Amino acid sequence: MGTTIKCIGILTSGGDAPGMNAAIRAVTRAAIYNGLSVKGIYRGYKGLVTGEIKEFKSQNVSNIIQQGGTILKTARCKEFMTPEGRQLAYDNMKKEGIDALVVIGGDGSLSGARIFAQEFDVPCIGLPGTIDNDLYGTDTTIGYDTALNTIIDAVDKIRDTATSHERLFFVEVMGRDAGFLALNGAIASGAEAAIIPEDSTDVDQLEEFIKNGFRKSKSSSIVLVAESGKTGGAMHYAERVKNEYPQYDVRVTILGHLQRGGSPTAHDRILASRLGAAAIDAIMEGQRNVMVGIENDQVVYVPFAKAIKNDKPINRELVNVLRELSI
Ligand code: ADP
Repeated sequence: MGTTIKCIGILTSGGDAPGMNAAIRAVTRAAIYNGLSVKGIYRGYKGLVTGEIKEFKSQNVSNIIQQGGTILKTARCKEFMTPEGRQLAYDNMKKEGIDALVVIGGDGSLSGARIFAQEFDVPCIGLPGTIDNDLYGTDTTIGYDTALNTIIDAVDKIRDTATSHERLFFVEVMGRDAGFLALNGAIASGAEAAIIPEDSTDVDQLEEFIKNGFRKSKSSSIVLVAESGKTGGAMHYAERVKNEYPQYDVRVTILGHLQRGGSPTAHDRILASRLGAAAIDAIMEGQRNVMVGIENDQVVYVPFAKAIKNDKPINRELVNVLRELSI
């Protein structure tokens, strides 16, 4: 299949993630390499609705591969949730001569791209940019590895003080209803347990953790808790311990937004570069309305409907590894 596409627009939307800049760079350079022109759209869908759009040359994306955040800025845009807002976005796209869109973002951003593509018959390609790793059809997402590394760095430091005072720490990490950061962060930092939304309905995770005799051979304990309405968050568990197990000296650390920042790891830079180049391959092949993902080290194209609608399952083997290794 060939393509009549001459100009692509690129935007970052929703929660920012380290590696988004590497993805912007890759999409821009791969597009120019393939003879396409590129327009950068600022502040996500907001910039499309208001016409905040600028032509991008190769040098516009120089010296950004190592930077966290996104040079295109990001935003949440209520107007784009309405048909009138999307009509304005489409009119601006046409005015700017943009034939196709590359959207870098999470679940919400790709949902927006899907609706926009359906309504206006615009080719859209999505790149999974989120620290939460919660998109189906890709093994990892851009920003996830960097966030994991930030978490283990923080937990290593908390461990020093936790050990000195013989305390039980609940460390809250991001995840938005997905336990990937909590579970893998716990394995990688040698934490004693992870409380994840995926298991919140089946078992009382705190009771299980205490029952397993978490202090048999240890002078401190760290539990990673995924921030989620389903788990109740770290404060909830600290309160419970204070009431139900008052013998423990308990503390809470909420890592918050520091998990979103920082220079992307090699893994995220390479992932973003591969997916960005593959997004342009997809456009050149005439593909549309797919998210570019990675599975078993191979680039895959996942229809938006599949990537958005399905919940990505936690690997149960990792839950067992954490349990076995935290005795
Ligand atoms: P993320 O991409 O990180 O999941 P959000 O869920 O906040 O972030 O979505 C980012 C933006 O994508 C929203 O502010 C909105 O502009 C757009 N969007 C999300 N869901 C939809 C939808 N169902 N229809 C249209 N636009 C949407």
